[in-house]
Amino acid sequence: MLAFAIALSMLLRGRRPVHWLFAAFAAEIALWYGSQSLFGLFQAPIWIRATAVLTVLLPQFAVHLFQAIVPLEVGAERAKLPRIAAWIGVFMLALELSPYHEAPLSLGAAYFYVFGLISAALISLARRGRRSKSRAIRDRVRFLVVVGAAATTFTLADFLSFLGVVLPPIGAVLAIVFLFVLAESLTRPRLADLYEMAGRSLVSTALAFSFAGIFYVFVTYVGRFNTMYLNGVLAAIVFLVLFEPLQAEVERRIHQFFFRERFDLETSVAELRRLLSHVLERQEMVDVLLSGLERSRRVTSAAIYLRDQDGNGFDLAGSIGGVTTNDKEPSPLFGRIPTRLESLAVRPMLDRLTQQSSVSLEELSREGKDSDAPVLTSASALGAMDSAVLLGVRGDDEECVGIICVADDRVRDAFTPEEIKVLENVAAQIGVAIANSQIYSRMKERDRLAALGAMAAGLAHEVKNPLGAIKGAAQLLDEMSIHGGKDGQEWVGIILEEVNRLDRVVGSFLDYARPHAGNPIPLDLNGAVRRTVQIWSSQQLEDVNISLDLTEGLSRAKIDPEQFRQVLLNLVQNAVQAMDGRGRVFVSTQRKRGARPRSWSGSVNDKGPASAEPELVEVSVRDTGPGISQKVLKNLFIPFFTTKDQGTGLGLAISQSIVQNVGGTIEVQSQPGAGTTFTISLPAALDALVTPIPTAVDAKPAHADDEASTKSGGEPQPAKA
Ligand code: ADP
Repeated sequence: MLAFAIALSMLLRGRRPVHWLFAAFAAEIALWYGSQSLFGLFQAPIWIRATAVLTVLLPQFAVHLFQAIVPLEVGAERAKLPRIAAWIGVFMLALELSPYHEAPLSLGAAYFYVFGLISAALISLARRGRRSKSRAIRDRVRFLVVVGAAATTFTLADFLSFLGVVLPPIGAVLAIVFLFVLAESLTRPRLADLYEMAGRSLVSTALAFSFAGIFYVFVTYVGRFNTMYLNGVLAAIVFLVLFEPLQAEVERRIHQFFFRERFDLETSVAELRRLLSHVLERQEMVDVLLSGLERSRRVTSAAIYLRDQDGNGFDLAGSIGGVTTNDKEPSPLFGRIPTRLESLAVRPMLDRLTQQSSVSLEELSREGKDSDAPVLTSASALGAMDSAVLLGVRGDDEECVGIICVADDRVRDAFTPEEIKVLENVAAQIGVAIANSQIYSRMKERDRLAALGAMAAGLAHEVKNPLGAIKGAAQLLDEMSIHGGKDGQEWVGIILEEVNRLDRVVGSFLDYARPHAGNPIPLDLNGAVRRTVQIWSSQQLEDVNISLDLTEGLSRAKIDPEQFRQVLLNLVQNAVQAMDGRGRVFVSTQRKRGARPRSWSGSVNDKGPASAEPELVEVSVRDTGPGISQKVLKNLFIPFFTTKDQGTGLGLAISQSIVQNVGGTIEVQSQPGAGTTFTISLPAALDALVTPIPTAVDAKPAHADDEASTKSGGEPQPAKA
């Protein structure tokens, strides 16, 4: 019945010769099982004859069908197999119609004839498949041959019952599964769909076997014949109870086992989407996307193009697995992809991506529709990606603001429609991330402009005062030269001093405006702190104790040593100045694991919860000074903001830009009257743990230093730790 249904379904779907051949093959199988059943029912010898004749015809249909699946190429020699098969068939038919058809020898001959020919047909199919130029056909044929071989082997096992070996009749079930798979493979163009469908039939088969087992137990073991109906009903109730959980479990296991890659794609895309929801910066979004796709192991190459500001084209923001047109050496595995796509050149492709969320270029070129030709022509601009799956990233205005190309060039039709849906969702989320990053960069730009405004005002003020003084001094010099009066040296001194001051201000301004990248190296912060404090202490006269509390075995942090010294000196200097030269300063180092702290100014590289929880190394400078009022706190990092007469207001601004340049942050905690703590957090340099040197002094740095600092009377003592 099932075989008949499959035959009919094929004819409903297509009427090409291959469809007719398939329908004939399936009908033949149906008749073969049918005549066997009829013999079982009526025991009439006619059904034995009928079965025998159908047995002879079966492999003939198989041979013709398998030959039709991969048509011969034009000009190739005609296949010999059908002719040889036909000759043997005629002989076998004669044998089966003769009075000797029930002799053991002729049974054996029939047996070898059937399986010999089916195997030969499968082998010839495999050969043709291997020779085919299209990889899609090669993969599809390999798939069919494996399923066909399994079905033949198991059906062969069924026949062993004639020889007295009784095995469960799985052959019949598998023959139907094979027919079904074959039917689907003839009508579905995508190999990926076949895998999907094979997965589903595996699930159904596994379920059918489990339920058959349950039924068997109930009817055979639990009850006798007179209670069979009751047991049948009980078994049915057990099916109903178990059906859903069992189906879910079987599906999960089969997917995990046979479709591991798909399973991986789903789990890694879920993780990717989680990470994307925290991303604010454009480049970070690109990195997260590409590394997520790479981790999924389902793409061999991927690229993301983002629209430029004026919408004239799309620039390559990142790629994996490919080389760009700017690279010199093309990868042996993968060809070149362009670094830019001009909107005009790829217009048809863009229009298509605006209409639908994704386009599989491979599918379009296989279908070969006229309406798709312009899309394919424009997609050829993608170079090696010209047969990828394209995912459109839409912006707020529903326009295409980005194109994600994914390809798995190990197989054709690498992505199932369900997988493409999953990837489309990622593209949608990229659209949201792009919108977020635009808002974020606008906010950053606004902050920057505000800072620039404040800075310009500060600069004007700073330049104006010394200029006034210079002008006054110069006017006096002028008058002196007219009246031949006092010695002008004093006024020249003032001019020089003010010019120097202007020079300092402008120099610091330039430091801030064009920060020097420095030469970051994995720096032992404890060592750097000790040296800096030592040098500072030896040059100062103020009555200030500096205590060190250094955590040993700290990881190194990547920063330019000179710049680190500059930052630390600035914090210490500020602390000392805030306390009017009297009080205590505590410098400590510690490690902190976890998300990056948010800087008070809010403008630091806060990238949300980092995926790998980076280790942070902290250096804190605490003072017992007057603290900072809320009003001052707000402007602390704005360039030229100062509360000191002789201050430049650039110390903290420069310090912040140095620390941010190496991916760190500066935080401040302060309460008026309760002192201030500045904390520098730097990401630890990987694999750069400083081995603690166990010396007596190092063992208790804070105390050792406390002693040193309490000793200090009028004379400052170098801080020892
Ligand atoms: P400058 O020291 O030239 O004023 P900074 O940028 O280093 O420039 O500091 C800006 C302002 O921050 C200072 O003028 C001061 O008001 C305040 N400040 C910095 N550190 C401290 C501190 N430890 N205690 C109190 N106020 C501080």
